[in-house]
Amino acid sequence: MALETDTELKELIRKTALSNAVKHDGKAQVGPVVGKILGERPGYRDKTKELSALISTVINDINSLSLDKQKSIVAEEWPELLTKERAKEQKHLPPLPNVDKYGKVVTRFSPNPDCVLHLGSARAIVLCHDYARMYEGTFVLRFEDTDPKIKRPVLEFYDRIREDLGWLQCKPDEEYIQSDRLPIYYGHSEKLIKDGNAYVCTCDRELFRKLILEQKPCPCRDCLPEEHLARWRQMLEGEYSEGEAVVRVKTDLNHPNPAVRDWPAMRVVDSEKYPHPRVGTKYHAWPLYNLACGVDDHLLGITHIIRGKEHLTNQVRQEFMYRHLGWTYPEAIHYGRLKITGAYLSKSKIVQGVREGQFKGWDDPRLATFAALRRRGITPGAIKKMIIDVGPKTSDVILSWENLYAYNRKILDPIVNRYFFVQNPLELTVKNVPKTFEIHLNLHPEHPERGTRNYTLKPEGKERSAALWVSRNDVAHSREGQTVRLMELFNIKIETANMYAAEASFVSESYEDAKNVKASLIHWIPVGKDMPCDVVMPEANIIEGIAEEACRKLSPDTMVQFERFGFVRVDALNAKLTAYYTQG
Ligand SMILES: [Zn+2]
Repeated sequence: MALETDTELKELIRKTALSNAVKHDGKAQVGPVVGKILGERPGYRDKTKELSALISTVINDINSLSLDKQKSIVAEEWPELLTKERAKEQKHLPPLPNVDKYGKVVTRFSPNPDCVLHLGSARAIVLCHDYARMYEGTFVLRFEDTDPKIKRPVLEFYDRIREDLGWLQCKPDEEYIQSDRLPIYYGHSEKLIKDGNAYVCTCDRELFRKLILEQKPCPCRDCLPEEHLARWRQMLEGEYSEGEAVVRVKTDLNHPNPAVRDWPAMRVVDSEKYPHPRVGTKYHAWPLYNLACGVDDHLLGITHIIRGKEHLTNQVRQEFMYRHLGWTYPEAIHYGRLKITGAYLSKSKIVQGVREGQFKGWDDPRLATFAALRRRGITPGAIKKMIIDVGPKTSDVILSWENLYAYNRKILDPIVNRYFFVQNPLELTVKNVPKTFEIHLNLHPEHPERGTRNYTLKPEGKERSAALWVSRNDVAHSREGQTVRLMELFNIKIETANMYAAEASFVSESYEDAKNVKASLIHWIPVGKDMPCDVVMPEANIIEGIAEEACRKLSPDTMVQFERFGFVRVDALNAKLTAYYTQG
């Protein structure tokens, strides 16, 4: 049937174009409409040119209407399209508590630069960043690098963390490094000591533990502040060795949680033995987590602390210090644990594995570091969307790689072009090819406007044969006489097939014929129109194969879909194409 006279088709185009126009500020776009129509009417695939022209005419008419007019037509004729759109509206984060109390929302992400960032940090980063953006506030990056001994910071990770945040599109507005701020922590420790709200405990650790479990004060606790100030100065001057003196913040000795009672705030570190990578041997006394974090949250004006619920006890500890200093504790939102099954998230194991050569680097595909996800072609948008959908709820959430892939696929599918890749290649000779085939393969089936990859298949010799690469996995076990369809080309009958070569003969062109005999569809690449291609898989093994020649025009960092294989990211391109496998 001629397109022009198919009224049902015309009506479908009108509906699709209007719906598209309403979604795009009154301007429908040809590509997506063509794609949608072809999706519903695959029979018109061989008439895309004609179809595109018809669609363009309809769209010209529709785009000349005002957006209000378009909306009223849709509302009257297809009201269900509007409700569907509303339901699909993007999910937003629930509001933060007590925003009105503060002039401006300030959030912070505070990593220890003792490892690169991985998927386990995504929730803290995305929530803190997006909440700051949602309220036009400030997102602070604070490096918590005050443990030169056990969780030692490493210089290269400061930059890697900055790079990861940039990639995640969560750039901070302000940045602080705690190892620059020791004099600030010293000042506040001294004030706490002077006011009798903290003391320098020189007891043996075991003795202190025993007393605190019995809810009893240690012998130091009731000494005069002058005595503690003197001990404090000795701490600063390096006159105590490690473990000999600890500044403790006074709390309630009867607090039901023994871990809260008189918690440690400052300790001595042997700086000769454990020099800090940024400030070297300059300091002997180092703040512990709750002092540095608590002081900074107040001084940096953090209004909303958004973190995992494993920090609930830290809030209880810090609230004692806030009361001593006359401060008000910020709003705190504690979300539940986010587990990603199968993701490798132990920081110490990642660092050790890379240092010892078990992993090839911070971006080894087996790791769930942002560097590895980036190299594999997981998009930052997919990570962000997944985190926003989970939100800040307090219940624990278990996600899988498949969940992340589903988000990623939604982003990649419409934008990524398709190519053929033949893994485990085998040469197939097809005989009796009746003519020369000019083949035009769409870069994307729903976006014919993006163009095609073009190949000419010309039969040679007396037997009119053509040579193609196909995957051994597809044909090596074929039965003699079996019909197979070469995707978008023609149907063939297998004559012989073994591990080394295969022969077949031409049967017919029609897709219907293939469908009738339920022929399997396989992809192919003309011999001579190919390039070698290695795909690095998530387990770090390599699948070798052949990619079609059109891939030579790609540039590194491009995402492509190898049909019937999966999405890959082009990693390097020279005589050989090296790609990283993203997902199926
Ligand atoms: Zn003591």
